[in-house]
Amino acid sequence: MASWIPHFIDGATFEGRGGRTAPVFNPATGAQSGEVPLASVADVDAGVQAALRAFPAWAATPPLRRARILNKFLALLERDADRIAAAITAEHGKVLSDAKGELTRGMEVVEFATAAPQLLKGEITENVGSRIDSHALRQPLGVVAGITPFNFPAMVPMWMFPVALACGNCFILKPSERDPSASLIIAELLAEAGLPKGVFSVVHGDKVAVDALLEHPGISGISFVGSTPIARYIYETAARTGKRCQALGGAKNHMVILPDADMDLAVDALMGAAYGSAGERCMAISVAVPVGERTAEALMAKLEPKVRALKIGPGTEADAEMGPLVTRQHRDKVLGYIDAGLAEGARLVVDGRDFRMQGYEDGYFVGGTLFDHVTPAMSIYREEIFGPVLSVVRADDYATAARLINEHEFGNGTSIFTRDGEAAREFAHGIQVGMVGINVPIPVPMAFHSFGGWKASLFGDHHMHGPEGVRFYTRLKTITTRWPTGGVRSAGADFVMPTMR
Ligand code: NAD
Repeated sequence: MASWIPHFIDGATFEGRGGRTAPVFNPATGAQSGEVPLASVADVDAGVQAALRAFPAWAATPPLRRARILNKFLALLERDADRIAAAITAEHGKVLSDAKGELTRGMEVVEFATAAPQLLKGEITENVGSRIDSHALRQPLGVVAGITPFNFPAMVPMWMFPVALACGNCFILKPSERDPSASLIIAELLAEAGLPKGVFSVVHGDKVAVDALLEHPGISGISFVGSTPIARYIYETAARTGKRCQALGGAKNHMVILPDADMDLAVDALMGAAYGSAGERCMAISVAVPVGERTAEALMAKLEPKVRALKIGPGTEADAEMGPLVTRQHRDKVLGYIDAGLAEGARLVVDGRDFRMQGYEDGYFVGGTLFDHVTPAMSIYREEIFGPVLSVVRADDYATAARLINEHEFGNGTSIFTRDGEAAREFAHGIQVGMVGINVPIPVPMAFHSFGGWKASLFGDHHMHGPEGVRFYTRLKTITTRWPTGGVRSAGADFVMPTMR
């Protein structure tokens, strides 16, 4: 029996009046597990109107009181962590331990946001002029929306809404229609924590819902995470409709391995970063760049047996390291890339195309796949595959490795493995990428720093969560004050620019 996953608007579940729905599948079995309504323009408007009604009181709620609700929410997330992780695994396919990991990373943003009173402290200058003071406030934008991808159904929404709510905004989440259950649980827990109705809503849907949010005059800001073509579209449309926007896109993350690297450390790091979550991570490493032939040979010798030994299975299996891909269509797309890599002349060292999971023949599994001798001209190098496919591009020297990364369309994350501090520093300072790891394979910044890439991996000015998140979800107001005192009289109208004399 497929479960029904409704919208959540104005403090309660909402069926929607659009009539269109989408099926939700269990990727491990290929069976339909749920059905989700796809919002119409009127459904989206119902969410926005509820948020607009809730906004004045929420914006006026003292930040400490807002923080206390988030604190309560944090405790409820801890209480229900297993239930949320199970919902993620059932619809996304990632292994349970990884689902718990993404939830933990999301909860860290809630922890960050519970510092709302501290985060929203303004600035003050005494005597900007004689007996004149200035102070600056950060005020909420109003109603903001988050549009999120399938690959982190809990964490990516939690990059956004805890900070938005802490800053006094109302938030409308449009989660991925492929794994929508986690967002509904989150909405129910926020309500249980005491969040006033209308402050947080979930509107399920596809392009119709997204376009309705982009065009709605009641929405002041849009946060988006997803693929680059859609991120660009969101950013351009938000600019036209006059909304603040941050739109994070796709990635092709390289790991450079220098000849002096600890090869065991590098290979273990690469395995987790390339094949964890079946490669469906925006910070996955999809390209390894060994520098020098000997490094390449040593890397391949250690890597190949490990890729062959990957433990693949349904996410609910305790010792599985990697689960299935999210949908049948996505699995077919990834298989198409493997075919393309072969046709383009890359050497297929480990072929995951024929992997079959006994008892789960209809699941969307692809085995770990490893290509060697990949070149920058190949589609498997240029494009984001978003699957368990690692490409090895051999570089003669460091300069060639760095040039590869700098010339790539994407600039989300990258890492270098070396014992040479000078090389690592040059890499960290010179590379054209937003998030850099040194002997750290997936350098995802913690909640109190900010997450974001460069180039086609981010459209907009602000990264997510941390200080950048607070800046994104607030606008600055600067107030200049003079209180006339007993002896001061007006000297008459002044028609020149006031300056400090
Ligand atoms: P996607 O772009 O297909 O979908 C993202 C969201 O946009 C979903 O909510 C979807 O419903 C909506 N959407 C899809 N097509 C649309 C259209 N034509 N018009 C308007 N809205 C549309 O992405 P996905 O497949 O769900 O997620 C995978 C992608 O997300 C990958 O490219 C990955 O790199 C990226 N991602 C990036 C980051 C990052 O931080 N940069 C993080 C996670 C995922």
